[in-house]
Parts: sequence; structure tokens; C-alpha cells
Amino acid sequence: LMQLYQPLNFLGSIYSNLRKSIVDLENMFSLLAQPMDINNQECAKSLPTELVNAGPAKIEFKNVFFGYDPSREILHHVSFLAEPAQQIAIVGPTGAGKSTISRLLFRFYDVTSGAVLIDNEDIRSYKQDDLRKAIGVVPQDTVLFNDSIGYNIAYGKLGSLQAEIEKAARLAQIHDFIVGLPEGYNTQVGERGLKLSGGEKQRIAIARTILKNPRILILDEATSALDSQTEKEIQQALFQVSQGRTVITIAHRLSTIIHSDMILVMMDGKICEQGTHEFLLAKNGFYANMWSIQSQHSDK
Ligand code: ATP
Repeated sequence: LMQLYQPLNFLGSIYSNLRKSIVDLENMFSLLAQPMDINNQECAKSLPTELVNAGPAKIEFKNVFFGYDPSREILHHVSFLAEPAQQIAIVGPTGAGKSTISRLLFRFYDVTSGAVLIDNEDIRSYKQDDLRKAIGVVPQDTVLFNDSIGYNIAYGKLGSLQAEIEKAARLAQIHDFIVGLPEGYNTQVGERGLKLSGGEKQRIAIARTILKNPRILILDEATSALDSQTEKEIQQALFQVSQGRTVITIAHRLSTIIHSDMILVMMDGKICEQGTHEFLLAKNGFYANMWSIQSQHSDK
């Protein structure tokens, strides 16, 4: 038996490396879809540890112009300021440039002119790794790895203890669902395992983000309408993950963002109005019009 120990141990480590490589590969594919001209500057600073780990961040877009293609400018003259721990929502019609703002913050692309600042520093002066550690994203549609549901949550912070994973799952309102599965946290999910609904996948993504504990959070609200119970659970989970962070929500349903500290209304790549829900309603402009149209539909 002792003779088998070493080869088996070796095989085990190959399996675990392979699994990590597959995950890295998936990350790489998503990054390969992005342009490759984002490089660390020679003088890129490492964020001091307290900047990566502690406290909500201040975000500023200063006169940003941007196009994916030089011949077609998408964002024009975009400026706004999110103070630490503020909840900012971006609304507007499809194609207005809402997601582009989140891609620039994550530095998938660099601005054509102007600047994006975090804590008063241009994000181009930070190391890419540090920047991405400081930002968590809850996407519309989460990709699950072909692995256990526990691993899928732990991916937010590899090496997490089971107790930490369960705490995050509880906050994300998904723990009870998981323990109700025949194999609990060991249940296999993804393409080759249990298929989860959009709402369940989103709560897994929220639990992952709670473990990652980023200073800035980007929430990309699902476009598809969820049933009202799921919607309530997701809203509670989002409330938990938003605490103590600066949050940017890309919203489709105005009812979910009425309590935001500031709502940016985008139109054709410009911020055409900004302010609180009450301020924008009183202004009786584009937002007030969107609100009145959505109010006529039950899934507002
Ligand atoms: P939605 O509500 O539909 O998600 P949005 O407001 O988030 O829309 P963006 O995704 O920011 O809109 O897109 C803004 C514009 O940029 C659109 O005209 C879109 O076609 C264009 N665009 C988005 N991504 C790319 C890309 N990778 N390459 C070229 N153009 C792009």
C-alpha cells in the first residue's frame, strides 16, 4: 500500500492542478475576448494592502471618451463621482453604454481620453491584478464550473474553509437550497451536473463575491423577469453583499434602484440626467418618462 502512496498522491496533485488549469483556461478565454493592449505601466504601483482589502472605494469618471473602434465613439464626455460606500445605478435604453462603463472600470479597455480614478488615482497607474482584486462583479449570467456547488462558491476565495463557504451561502440566501440537495455542498453542478435556474446561479455568484470581499461591486441586473419570491431573495442577497462597498448597479428594472444615492441616466453614450429617484421624478425628464412607462407594466 505504501508503494502506491506516492503515485496516487502524484495523480491527486495532477488532478488538482488540472482542475485549476481548466478554471484558469476559462478565465483566459474570457480575457482573450478582450483586447490585449492593456499593459501594466512600467511604474504601475502595487496598491498598499489596506487599499486592496479595506473600506469602500471612491470612484470617479473624469471627462471620459471611449470607442471600441476608433471610428465609432461610444462614450462621450462621461463624468461622475461615487463617494465611498455610495450606491450608484446606471439606467438607460439598450446600447446606451451602461455596461461599457463597467468594462472601463474593470480595465478591460482603456479610455480614449479623460480618466477613471479610484481613490483619486488613475486606474492605469495600478497593477492590473490589484485592480481586479478590488472589484467584484455579479454578472447577469454566471458561468458555473463542472464541479461541486461548494467549489463554485469557494472560487471567490480559493482555499476557503467550509464554515466560510456556508456563511457566504447563508448571506446569499442559497444555503437552505443547497442543504436540501441530496449531496448538499458536494452536489455536482454545471453542464455535466445539476442545472440551476438563473436565480440560483445568481445567488451562487453573490456568495462567491461575498467570499471575495471586494471594495467595489458591479451588479449587472438580470434582464429576464424573475418570479416575485426569487426576486425578493435576490434583492436580500444583493443588499447583504452591498454593505460597506461602493456599488454600481446596471439596472433594467427601475423599481430595484429607487433607493440609490445617485442614478445616472444614459442615452447614446452620454449621461443625460443624474440625481436621486425623487430629484429625477421632479425633473420630469427622460427618467420620469421611463418610470411612468415601466409603472404601467406589472414587472416594473
Ligand atoms: P444593454 O442594456 O443592452 O446591455 P448597454 O447600455 O449596456 O446595453 P453597451 O453594452 O455598453 O450598452 O454598448 C454600448 C455600445 O457599444 C453599443 O452600441 C454596442 O453595440 C457597442 N459595443 C459593445 N461592446 C462592443 C464590442 N466589444 N465591440 C464593439 N462595439 C461594442
